[in-house]
Amino acid sequence: MKRKARPVEKEVNVWDWNSSLWSYGFQDLNTSVPASFSTSISNVPYFDLRIYRESVVKSLIKAHSKDMYRLLGNIHFDGEYYRVKWANSGEWEYCWDLAVKVQFFGKMLGMTLYPKRLVSQKEKRIVYRSMILVNPYQLWDAALVSKFWNLQERVEYLIARILFHECIHVMISLGNILPSGFGHTDIYLEFRKMFEISVSKKLSTELHNVQFRLWNLVLFGAAGSENEKKLLERVQEIYEFLINEKYSNQKTGKAFSFPPNNKSIARKYAWIAAVKAGGSRQVSKRVWQVEVRRLSIALRELFDGIDTELSNIGFTWK
Ligand SMILES: [Zn+2]
Repeated sequence: MKRKARPVEKEVNVWDWNSSLWSYGFQDLNTSVPASFSTSISNVPYFDLRIYRESVVKSLIKAHSKDMYRLLGNIHFDGEYYRVKWANSGEWEYCWDLAVKVQFFGKMLGMTLYPKRLVSQKEKRIVYRSMILVNPYQLWDAALVSKFWNLQERVEYLIARILFHECIHVMISLGNILPSGFGHTDIYLEFRKMFEISVSKKLSTELHNVQFRLWNLVLFGAAGSENEKKLLERVQEIYEFLINEKYSNQKTGKAFSFPPNNKSIARKYAWIAAVKAGGSRQVSKRVWQVEVRRLSIALRELFDGIDTELSNIGFTWK
């Protein structure tokens, strides 16, 4: 059954850098690429991305997660919204629309915009809309080229891997937002387990170290007008973002035999977290950078602790 949602009128401007995108979505910036790459990226040769086959990308995903395949089954990667989930709870209907777009856009691997909530009182319907952008710019990455000589297969693998990662964010949002029972997938439950471990007593030292660094960074980035409650909420929000990324990176790494390590995840996302916190508004760049490094170290210790605790309870990845 195909249920296609009406295309949305011009929402494209939400991708714009000026639309406080840093605070409203998941960005998977690859900070491990050498600086020189940023100059070559603006000269990406013309390349027709349409050589990928959607069916192949979907079957690559199906091999690793049936739940995710169910989510993506009926949609096309054309940037239009498709209804992927709907459920009734009480007299209200909850719906989820998802759009996927594949295109080159700079140095970001992928990006998921936080769900936009549309409420229709008349129809008693709440619609959530998420947009995933997939940027397979690593197409000429040496390791990937030697793994897939065939360009078409390489594009398909790369799109599947990025989409898998971004879909995890969507599935976690689904689980957090939809009435309980409707959005509870294997992926959501696994993520919850990891999150609970991260805030458990056993890791309280590591947790407090991370929160302390985040608090400092939020103060460094504060505009000055926010009250303490607001700042604490920001700390919590960024903390959840970091555990979300730890889970997404690890899960995708396992599925696509591309294992990341805690050190690299911590380094990459400590920086994004610090930018999300507001940057170096209140202090010098140098002071800010030192704090980002301290967050990265604290984060790595927390991530290592999570792995140890998960293996202690006999957690196995699905
Ligand atoms: Zn991510």
